[in-house]
Formats: sequence, C-alpha cells, structure tokens
Amino acid sequence: MPNVLTAWRIATLATLAGGTLAAQGPSQPARIPTTVEMPLAVEAGAPTPDSLVHLVLARFATGTAAAFDSVYPDPLGRTVIDGAAQRKLLRTPGLGRVLWSDASHAVLLITGTVHEGDATGIETGSDETNRVRRLSGLYEAARAGDTWTLARQIPFDTLNYIRAQVLHVDIEPGRMSRIVDTVTIESGSPWGFGARLNNATTLQTVTLDGRPARYALGGGVLWIDVPAAARSRRATLALAYSIPAQHDAKPATGDSANVAPATSPDTMPAYGAMNNTDAWHPFFNYDSGNDFAQLTVTATIPSQYRLTTSVPQTETVSGGVRTVHGTSIHPQFLLALLYDRDWTPVTTQVNGGEFTLETFFTPHFHFAPDTIAKTAALVYRTLVPRFGEPQAPSKYLAVVEDRSLGHSGWAVRMNNAVISGDNATMLDEPNLGPSFPFAHEVSHGWTMNSSGLAANFLQEGWATFCESLVLRAEYGPTAERNFWERMRTSYVTGLDRAGFLGGFEGKQSIIDNPDNGRIHYSKGSWILHQLDYVLGDSTYDRGIRYFIANNGRGPNGYPEFIADMSRAAGRDLTGFIMPWLSGKYIPDVEAHVDGSSVIVTQSQPDVVFDLPLDVAIVSGADTVRQRVRLTSRADTIHLNDAGAVTRVLVDPDHHFLLRRHWGETKTFTLHAPNAKSVELSGNFIAKPIAATHTGDDWTVELPIPEGRYIWLWRVDGKSPSDEETIAAVKSGASDSTSRAGVLIVRPLVRLDDHDAR
Ligand SMILES: [Zn+2]
Repeated sequence: MPNVLTAWRIATLATLAGGTLAAQGPSQPARIPTTVEMPLAVEAGAPTPDSLVHLVLARFATGTAAAFDSVYPDPLGRTVIDGAAQRKLLRTPGLGRVLWSDASHAVLLITGTVHEGDATGIETGSDETNRVRRLSGLYEAARAGDTWTLARQIPFDTLNYIRAQVLHVDIEPGRMSRIVDTVTIESGSPWGFGARLNNATTLQTVTLDGRPARYALGGGVLWIDVPAAARSRRATLALAYSIPAQHDAKPATGDSANVAPATSPDTMPAYGAMNNTDAWHPFFNYDSGNDFAQLTVTATIPSQYRLTTSVPQTETVSGGVRTVHGTSIHPQFLLALLYDRDWTPVTTQVNGGEFTLETFFTPHFHFAPDTIAKTAALVYRTLVPRFGEPQAPSKYLAVVEDRSLGHSGWAVRMNNAVISGDNATMLDEPNLGPSFPFAHEVSHGWTMNSSGLAANFLQEGWATFCESLVLRAEYGPTAERNFWERMRTSYVTGLDRAGFLGGFEGKQSIIDNPDNGRIHYSKGSWILHQLDYVLGDSTYDRGIRYFIANNGRGPNGYPEFIADMSRAAGRDLTGFIMPWLSGKYIPDVEAHVDGSSVIVTQSQPDVVFDLPLDVAIVSGADTVRQRVRLTSRADTIHLNDAGAVTRVLVDPDHHFLLRRHWGETKTFTLHAPNAKSVELSGNFIAKPIAATHTGDDWTVELPIPEGRYIWLWRVDGKSPSDEETIAAVKSGASDSTSRAGVLIVRPLVRLDDHDAR
C-alpha cells in the first residue's frame, strides 16, 4: 500500500497527464449482480473448430480491437487486446488447438503473447505472462448452422487441482534459474491440465507419473495432456526447466568487470528476486481456490548471497554454495525467492516466542530489527486476541528489504514475508493519513489465501480494516476515526490510486471485475468496519475466525465469507452484505420532515441496502436520536412534535459509508507575497483549484461535505514537502500563512453539489 502523501503527489501529476479509466470493465445493467466475466455477443465465426482457432489467433495478432471483439466473447480478454492495440504493442500468436469436439461443441486452447519492452528495452517473461492471463486459456466453441463461434472461456481450474509442489531451484544471479518442480496434481478435466507458467521458460523435461507427457508451452501457458487413466486421482507431474533472471540488479560495471572471470562476484548483480507474481512455477490464477498447495523449496545460490524463500526456512553453506530449504506451513499458492549480497539477517523471538521474526536488511535500511520486532509484536497483540493466530504464518514472519523494488516503502506481502523497497522511512503516520502501512502488510497474514471474485476485498479490505485497529491500539479512537474519514474520502475522490480520479462511485463494484484494484482498500475495508459495528465485536470476531480457519484450504471467497458471518450471527446476512459487494453505488440516504413524520429514503441507482441507521432530529438546541432499519426505498419515523425540526441528520456518527449531503462552504486564504500562481490541493479535490487574489492574499471558496480533510497550497507549482505537511497538520496550523492543514467540516447546511468533485 503506497504512502498516502506520495499517492497524492502522483495523483496530482496524473491529472495533468489525463488519468486513464481504461482499466474498468464495460458498464453493466443496473440491479443485476453479474460480473464482467459474462460472455458478450460475437458477430463472426468459422466453418470448423480448427479454422475458428486460426481466425481468433489471426485477429489476436493483427486485428483491430473491434475486429478481435467480433470473434471473441470474453470481456476481460477483450480488455487485453484493447490495451495492446491502443498502445501499439506487438502481439504474437501462441498455442492454438482443438482439444475436443463433437457435432455441436468444441473445446479450444488459445494463447498468445503481448510484447512490451520496459524503458531499457528488456522485458521479463513474467510481464508477458501476466499481461495475457485473462486471455490465454481454454474456450468453449459452439456450432450454429454452418458457423462455429467462441462461446465462453473455461477457467483452467475447472475440475483441476494443484495439491503440492516440491521445488529445487538453482539460482545463478543475473543469468538464470534452473528449476525442477515435482507437482502433485489432480486433474478431473477431460481437456487436460492447463496452468500459467513464465513465458520465458525453457522446458527440458515433462513427465506424468514417470512417463513422458504430451504437452504444449506458449502464451504464458503450459498445457499437459492427461490420459484418462491418470484422471481424477493424484498424479505426479515432473517438470525440469529454466527461466532467465527476472528482477536482478545490473551487474557491477567498470574496469574490474572487464578482467574478472564470468562467475566472479564483480560481474554478478548485488541482488535479485523471483517474486510470487513472476509465474516461475505453475499456477491457475491469482484468485483461484484450486491451487493452494503444500510448497517445499530447496534453493541453491552462491554463498555470498543471502536468500529468503518467503516461508519458514533453514540453511546450510558448503563448497561456496548456500542451500536454503523452505516449507509452507499452510497450503499456499506461489512462492517468492529474494536474494541480496548485502543483507545481514537477524532472527528474533517475538511476544515471548509467539513467533519467529527474521529480518533481511542491508546496513542502509532505515529500520533496525528491534524496531520491526516491537511493531510486529503490537500488530499480533492487537489482532490475535480477536481473530486468533494468522492463517498463513503463525510461527514465522520475515521482513525483507527488496532492493529490486526500488525506492519504495512497505509495498507488498508475499507468503510469510512483508516486503519493503529500499526507502521505507515510516512504519506508520498517525497525523496526516493516518496510516499504518507496516501493520497493513503484517495483517495480510490472516486472510491472504482468500480466493474468487472478491479475493481482493477479503485480502486488501481486511488488511486495511486491521490497519484501523492497530492505529486505535497505538494512538487511540481519534486516529481510528480519522482513518475511516480518510478511507471514505479515498473512495469518493479515488486519490489513493495514481491516475484514478473522480472516485469509484458509480464506476465499479467489488465483484464486477476480479481485476478491480483500489476500491477494495476504501469501500472494501468499510464493509468490514460496518459489519463489526452492526454485529458487535464478539459475533464479528467469531465469524472472521470461521473464515480464517478455511483460508488456504480450497475456495474461500465471498460466498464462504457471507456463510461464516451468517453462522456467527445466527441469521442470514446475505441481504446486508451483498448490496455492498454487487452495487456500484454507496447508499444515498436522505431524511426530510413531512407533517408529523420524518421520511427516510435511499435513492442510489442500483441495489437497495439493509441499513440499521441512527437519525438525529434537530429542533433548535435539542437533538433527539431515533433508530430506523431502512430495508426499502423509503421508511417513516413518526414524531411527537414536528413543528420545530430544523435539520435531520442521517447516521450522524458515521458508522456507514454513505453519501453526505450536509456540509459547509469554506474559504481558504493564503498570504503569499510574490507568488505568481497559487492553487489549493488536498485529498478532497481531484485536481488543484486555482486561487484568485487581491494583493498578496489568495483565496478559494468551496462547498465541502462534512468530514475531515487534508489541504495544502501549491505556490508557483510547488507543494510543501511531506515533512512540512505533517508538521503543519500536527501543529493544527490554520493561519493564513500555513501551507497545509487539517480541515474539519460540520454538517451545517444542505449542499446541492455534494461529494462529487
Ligand atoms: Zn495490501
């Protein structure tokens, strides 16, 4: 999760560059909780299944996006070609075969590669594999009259499972890795076993139960023919292959490189990585529930490197070779191997032996292992009493400085490893965000093996929710409240995601596209926060424990989550949870006085929510609270004395993520002698607003919905530094020379132009 400050800066720049909204799927008809995986209509086909394969591959390679769409029905696959065509990327056909057919149906294997060099002209096989992971795959074709057309994509994990992987990896830093993977599969599909594998893979041998297998490799896919005799039982797929180095640093250059032998440390990179997104061993997809496997890895590397397998590990050194043996505690779906010549690993027992912490830092890393141990202990102390031990790494946590990630902070979680770039400068930021990026990454351990369409919600929404709990534990309820304000603002403006401006409202739902990204941090975390409020801690925690108990043990997605929470609550929560997952809008609730009643309505365009709301009825100096459970478009609260009601505020304590209709008009003033241009920026506006001036005083006047916001002034194009902004916010600065500050907006007047900016 990026630092919020940096994200603002990037977002502000992206405004100028014209942000892209291309990642979104096509719009869906209202009220139907479908997904963009629903096949779309095609216009053209071919006379035979075989000629259909050739037609689709030809359009893949050279067609316009429209020409491809006319023969290809899958919305996510169409997005791949649309993006490639817009950016004029080279496309080459991969595999194309008819795996099975009868008179009216056929199953086709179709894969391809979309090429893209990075700034240095080098690209990795993992980029190619990931780019086409929604396109390369199996397809059902159907015949109508004399024409065969593609009907839909068949996911690789249909009837197929990966149960275990035993890996031997010999790493030659900067050059390649040689891999022997013994995979226990269970293939019940009559169409064989297809999995994703790095597009730069060179395969040496492929055997199934000890016999050479019929296979094909291309377009980021390895396909194996599984004979009927090996079907629907455990079978051993043995692969020997090599993959070029993916993220290794450039080797040291200079005079020494010219004279040193090829294997000398001087010509070898200082660090490198095989990430769990590099497809360096087979998997179905990042959100599949069928490829959680017991993973065992034995990695060898020249002994001057240290290496983490991202799971609990032991190691030996002999004859200049370091051998590291790692084993996943629970079924997990992909491993990461990271290595660095300059790491000094430190092992600590945390919370009196509750878990082992191993840090892999260079001497330049900002944080000492002690500080990391103390903070990890805080996260466990906050979460374990409520939710139990984390599913994935209960006894082992690695914290890794991954220099191949570049100058970033706490960035990602890979199995038992929390990963940072080489520039982590804070573990938390309680004033501005607030945020707690380190706690976020540690918290992933509890639900990281969630699967399915809402996997991102169950992973990122969860980790973000936990961030709020750790903020409260460390800084108190105000920090927690401010955090939820920030998450709400982030949903409304979308500013936590570079280039995604104008927010998520009306544009995405949690489950309409498995590739939806940032919405899970804001809306996703709010869904969990609301559930916690509605159910109360003890019921909520019990439901979460049910869910965590099955994480990594097969498909564990939003249907299982709803079932687990319902079981804990003793009632069906589908009607409460589903509108938040399927709708593209948050509730738009308003209340008004009508005679001796208050009418409460919800008027968002798509789904209808089930909302147990507080309503504050304000009559002069008196405020009366009433409860209404709004389950339809409108409900009525009867009043004893309606005469003096001046305002009715819905959900005044902000327990729910709702549109906000009340606020204030605020005037911002900056005294800036000699300034040529002044703009107001902040987390509540998508792009900076130019100020007007009288003499040296610059002003912006703006109606703003109630909430807590961060604002800052850009003077002659320059924003205050992160440090200046934090200092200003911390000191509560609000005079007309302050370059940044916090703005609290109260619900005083009804705004016409609410929320949208
Ligand atoms: Zn995360």
